[in-house]
Amino acid sequence: MALRTAFLALVPALSLLSVPPPGATPESPPKPPVSVAPHVPANWKAGAASVKVTPQKLLWMAGYAARKKPAEGHVQDLYAKALALEDEAGSRLVFVTLDLIGVPQAMRHALSERAERMLGLLPECLVMNASHTHSGPQLRTAPLTEAERDNVRARDSWDYTQKLQEDIFSIISRALAEMQPARLTWNKARCGFAMNRRRDYSLPADHPNANRVPNPEGPVDHEVPALRVEAADGSLKAALFGYACHNTSLGFYNWCGDYAGFAQEYLQQHRPGFTALFLMGCGGDQNPYPRRTDVVPGVTDLELAMQHGRSLSNAVEMALTVNPRPLTGPIRAAYEEINLSYADGKRPDHHYPVQVIKIGNELTFITLGSEVVVDYSLRFKRELGGKGGIWVAGYSNDYTGYIPSLRVLKEGGYEAAAGWAEDVEDRIVKKVHELHERLSK
Ligand SMILES: [Zn+2]
Repeated sequence: MALRTAFLALVPALSLLSVPPPGATPESPPKPPVSVAPHVPANWKAGAASVKVTPQKLLWMAGYAARKKPAEGHVQDLYAKALALEDEAGSRLVFVTLDLIGVPQAMRHALSERAERMLGLLPECLVMNASHTHSGPQLRTAPLTEAERDNVRARDSWDYTQKLQEDIFSIISRALAEMQPARLTWNKARCGFAMNRRRDYSLPADHPNANRVPNPEGPVDHEVPALRVEAADGSLKAALFGYACHNTSLGFYNWCGDYAGFAQEYLQQHRPGFTALFLMGCGGDQNPYPRRTDVVPGVTDLELAMQHGRSLSNAVEMALTVNPRPLTGPIRAAYEEINLSYADGKRPDHHYPVQVIKIGNELTFITLGSEVVVDYSLRFKRELGGKGGIWVAGYSNDYTGYIPSLRVLKEGGYEAAAGWAEDVEDRIVKKVHELHERLSK
C-alpha cells in the first residue's frame, strides 16, 4: 500500500516534466540524418515524385462487380508515385506505383513509348505497378464510341484515365529530372495478415470445412522486401516496399488506398520530403485477414485496414533498418510480351508482359502482369534465389484478370476462371528463366 501511494505521488511530478515551457515546440529538435550503412558508397542517383490522383468527381469504383452506385466520399487520398534510379554507368530505371485497381496495358504501352521518345527511358527499364485497391475509380483506356458520348459514367471514366496518364508522365519526368546522389540498400522483414483465400482443395467435397475460407494451410508469401534510398548526407529519401495481398480490407464507397495506402501514409508521417512507394506482390489468391467486422466485434473495416497498414509499415521500418544489404549495380533489364493461350482455342492469344531487372547480382526484380497467384512468387524465389534477393511483383504493366498456377488451374475456383490453357505457368516460367539467364551473362 505504501509503495502504491509513493508511485501515485510521483505521477503529477512526472507529468509536469513532460509539459514544454511556454513558447517552446512540443517536439524535440530534429536529429541530424544518420546513414544505416555509412560504408556503402553513394554511387547512385535517385529521385522521387508523387501526384495526388484522387478523383475530383464521385466516379464509379473499381474492384467489386456487385456495386450498384458510384463513390460517395473520400477517406484517404490516392497517389501515383515514381522512383527513378541511375547507376554509375548512367543506366536508368523507373518504378511507377499507383493506388489504383490495375495498370491497363494500353496505358503502359502509351507511357513507355512516350517516356522512351521524350525522356530516353528504355521500355524494359519502366515498371508500372498498381496496389489493386478496391476503393479507387474504374479506369477506361478504350476511346468512347459515338453511342457513349452522352454516357456520363463512360465519359467521366475516360476523362479521369486521360488525366491520370498525363499525371503519371509528369511524375516520371520529375523523378528523373530531380535525381540526386544516393546510397541504395535493401533487406526484408515479415508481416502476417495475408492468408490464402482459396478453400482447402485437399479436403473431400463433403467435409464440413471443405468450403471454408481462408485456408490456414494454403500457400502465402509473408516477405516484405524494402529498397532504401538514402541521400548522400544519410537522410532517408524514399523506400520501395512490397507485399503479396489483395487490398480488400474495405468494401465501402469512399476513396482509399486500403492497407497499402495506410502503410505508405504511416511511413511518410514524421518524415518530411520522404516518399514511400508500395509494389504489389503476387497476391492474386491472398486476402487481408481479418477483413469483416463480424469477426472482430466493435472493429470497423476501416480500422482493420489501418491496423493492417500499421503492421505492414512496422515490417517495412524493420526491413529498412536491420542489416542493410548494399546495392551497387549495374542495372540490367529485359521486358518481353509472350503469348498466353485460352483453353477453348476460340479467343486470340493474350500478350502478357514479363520483365526481369537485375541490380548487379544483389537483387533481382521479376514483374508479371495482372493478378498473379502466390505460387509464382514462391517458385521464383526457390528456383532463382541464391546469394542475391528475388523480389517478385504481380499487377505490373497489365491488368487482365487472374493468372493461376497449374495447381490453381487444375483445382478450379475463382482464380482459375479466366480459362487459360494449361501451359500458362510453363510459358511464364520459361520466359522468366530465359530473361534471367540473358541478364546474368
Ligand atoms: Zn483481385
